[in-house]
Amino acid sequence: RQGTCIVTGASSGLGLATAKALAETGKWHIIMACRNFLKAERAAKSAGIAKENYTIMHLDLASLDSVRQFVDTFRRSGRPLDVLVCNAAVYLPTAKEPAFTAEGFELSVGTNHLGHFLLSRLLLEDMKKSDYPSKRLIIVGSITGNTNTLAGNVPPKANLGDLRGLSGGLNGLNRPAMIDDGAKAYKDSKVCNMLTMQEFHRRLHEETGIAFASLYPGCIATTGLFREHIPLFRLLFPPFQKYITKGFVSEDEAGKRLAQVVSDPSLTKSGVYWSWNKHSASFQNQLSQEASDAEKARKVWEISEKLVGLA
Ligand code: NDP
Repeated sequence: RQGTCIVTGASSGLGLATAKALAETGKWHIIMACRNFLKAERAAKSAGIAKENYTIMHLDLASLDSVRQFVDTFRRSGRPLDVLVCNAAVYLPTAKEPAFTAEGFELSVGTNHLGHFLLSRLLLEDMKKSDYPSKRLIIVGSITGNTNTLAGNVPPKANLGDLRGLSGGLNGLNRPAMIDDGAKAYKDSKVCNMLTMQEFHRRLHEETGIAFASLYPGCIATTGLFREHIPLFRLLFPPFQKYITKGFVSEDEAGKRLAQVVSDPSLTKSGVYWSWNKHSASFQNQLSQEASDAEKARKVWEISEKLVGLA
């Protein structure tokens, strides 16, 4: 049978390119989990994804109610769940004041981490029931959250600190940590994403057989992720990545990479953070010290459970 794969944030950039790459194989039905239905429909059409290969379902990760409603809607569809891709994200590098989710969590960590944390915890039950031979749960990471890289050393650097910001409910009162700066909040959210993937692996891989993975697909300098940045940055960033750092990757190529993590038979290992070398070959990359700290991963998991109402 066709596999069913949920991709969050499939209305643009990496998520859309991944949906397209998967649909083209004919082996997947993609649930495009998006906050803007019309935009998603237009995006799917203009990417040329065949109608029978996708379904759009509403999901706003900045609202935990919406996450729960999405899970209900998906369950009512009667489809099995074989692969979940947590891809959506916001990046607010020029924000002067923090913005907040419906529950009052800082918007970047609230959307990128907490929304996905609740979503993946709830949908794990559905994945357990699927008889698909190679079930996977993928959380998109980033080089910018890894301070063992050049890109991860551009200030402000990711640093979850002693988790005071997270355990304080990300409400802006418990500094330092996470919401002092929009760019840092994004990087911190990506550290949470990568820690969550590893904690899933430790807690649930053996019991469920699901492969948990994260990845850095390369710098996709042309996506909407940079929409909040100043115009000069948006103009210079793609050529800078293409010709100076040579880290640039097209949306199409990045989508193919993520699609590999979804379905390539050679990428089944659990607990891995995938990257690609300059010849576009995948390899298991090293995470920074903070992003691979098992004790921190456990704490982030436990605090997040409380914040999203699972504990
Ligand atoms: P885009 O901005 O193009 O895509 C982000 C997607 O997330 C959009 O579809 C957006 O929806 C969606 N989204 C944002 N907020 C919410 C929300 N509250 N609920 C539901 N969906 C939401 O950026 P990219 O494609 O670049 O980013 C995708 C992933 O790739 C992210 O996890 C990012 O961290 C990661 N990444 C990107 C890199 C890059 O260089 N671009 C490098 C490394 C990692 P809408 O269309 O409605 O705005």
